[in-house]
Amino acid sequence: MTNPYRIVVVGGGTAGWITAAVLARYLAPARFAVTLVESEEIGTVGVGEATIPQMQLLNAALGIDEYAMMRATQATYKLGIEFVGWGTPDSRYIHAFGQTGRQLGQVPFQHFWLRGRAQGENAPLDAYCLNAAAAYANRFARADQAKSPMLGGLVHAFHLDANLYARYLRDHAQGRGVVRVEGRIAGAQRHGESGDITDLVLADGRSVAGDLFVDCSGFRSLLLGETLGTGFESWQHWLPCDRALAVPCASAPTLLPFTRSTARSAGWQWRIPLQHRIGNGLVYSSAHLTDEAAAELLLAHLDGEPLADPRPIRFVTGRRSAFWSHNVVGMGLAAGFMEPLESTSIHLVQSAVERLIKFMPSGAIDPADVAAYNAQTTFEWERVRDFLILHYHVNQRPERFWRDCAAMTVPDALREKIDLFGANGRITRFNEELFSEAGWLQVMVGQGLMPRGHHPLADDPSEAELGELLSLMRQAVDKLVATMPDHAAFLTRHCAAAPSGTC
Ligand SMILES: Cc1cc2nc3c(=O)[nH]c(=O)nc-3n(C[C@H](O)[C@H](O)[C@H](O)COP(=O)(O)OP(=O)(O)OC[C@H]3O[C@@H](n4cnc5c(N)ncnc54)[C@H](O)[C@@H]3O)c2cc1C
Repeated sequence: MTNPYRIVVVGGGTAGWITAAVLARYLAPARFAVTLVESEEIGTVGVGEATIPQMQLLNAALGIDEYAMMRATQATYKLGIEFVGWGTPDSRYIHAFGQTGRQLGQVPFQHFWLRGRAQGENAPLDAYCLNAAAAYANRFARADQAKSPMLGGLVHAFHLDANLYARYLRDHAQGRGVVRVEGRIAGAQRHGESGDITDLVLADGRSVAGDLFVDCSGFRSLLLGETLGTGFESWQHWLPCDRALAVPCASAPTLLPFTRSTARSAGWQWRIPLQHRIGNGLVYSSAHLTDEAAAELLLAHLDGEPLADPRPIRFVTGRRSAFWSHNVVGMGLAAGFMEPLESTSIHLVQSAVERLIKFMPSGAIDPADVAAYNAQTTFEWERVRDFLILHYHVNQRPERFWRDCAAMTVPDALREKIDLFGANGRITRFNEELFSEAGWLQVMVGQGLMPRGHHPLADDPSEAELGELLSLMRQAVDKLVATMPDHAAFLTRHCAAAPSGTC
């Protein structure tokens, strides 16, 4: 093993800078040198503004102060995602973070809720979910500031400006010793026998040598895809959207603490509120909607004046057939793409770099390490993929796009989940898959999938006891939410960004 072991990160978007920052945090600088090569001329994809609560762990690992990060990135709090028009055109539900109701003994909450419905208790799942109730009341408090013994506190994530976030991480990583090289990569040299990459060749003739390369070069997948020729497994037959238009607009009077995803005739529109603007975009299927119609649709549904022209982005949903090949590990868009329906991309980078540290070579790269890394990453991606497919597949919308989605054959693991829930309301979480039972529950019910039965133990309480129990849970939610400040007031007090977006 060379000393120091040279890790070269290719690309300085969100993926590149998260990777560099985490590597620099955990790998001793005396033994590992981390270099990042990026090109301002090429730039970044510049989208990726909604996150999931695991980002709090990233902040903690990097020693990032939440409020400072929020000030620097014009961030707001996110309590979940509201899905409008997904089940039927006039339906809405929220996939909120955290728990819904409380498990009683061995029996998950949904069984009591299902039985309650059968006896005329009509309150929706949202009424039992602290995050959902706070989101709809437009309130926010951190869990260390407001919680109850029965419900705990809110579980939060962030909306942030992607460009400011990459810049923030760049400063952070450079502060920890990451060396940044500015330049356009024109090619790579490979070892004559092993085929491993030895050097990046820059357009100006410089070269950057490394032992391990982390490809964060975006959709182009410069090393993993182009240089090594690693194949691409398309998931487009399950997730047919292949284009997006992104456009910021002026802020609305109310600063919502949640992402909104609105189903449209052949895709969906996102709305992500930041402190200084709202990020919007339309994700759509080019087989069902023209670019012109998509732009019209997007611009007709903004909550403020557009601040730029819609920016087109093309993609194919799927993944590289290997995430790690030779001495190259792909992360972010270079590894594959899943649409931002559940805001998972940034998290998948965070999780991949943690996994890479777990499998960091201690000399020559061992095929067993590579195989285990690839198997674990594949499992994680496929479970997220299935969760996204669920949103499309279980729907009652009339348009052709949606009827095609409802008619498609879904992956076996998803079919099993749907069948299991449809029978008696049971949900199984496979190993360490990302989304919890609570998330699957909200989306399955929200999309209109109602179980035929429930767990027999949910029939133990009498009708009056069950009614009282459900009522107590709803009251506890309402009581705690009433103590929380308005979301905008909370931001103003703790983490208002300077007008320029810097601290
Ligand atoms: C429409 C859309 C919406 C999204 N929304 C979300 C969201 O809400 N939440 C979420 O978590 N994720 C979201 N994502 C995903 C998220 O944007 C990306 O996962 C994230 O930004 C990481 O991108 P990246 O760093 O892999 O690639 P990029 O941002 O494209 O960065 C690539 C880097 O490689 C460099 N590079 C490329 N070629 C060369 C070269 N030849 N020489 C030198 N440097 C080079 C570029 O300069 C750049 O620095 C979204 C993606 C899309 C497409």
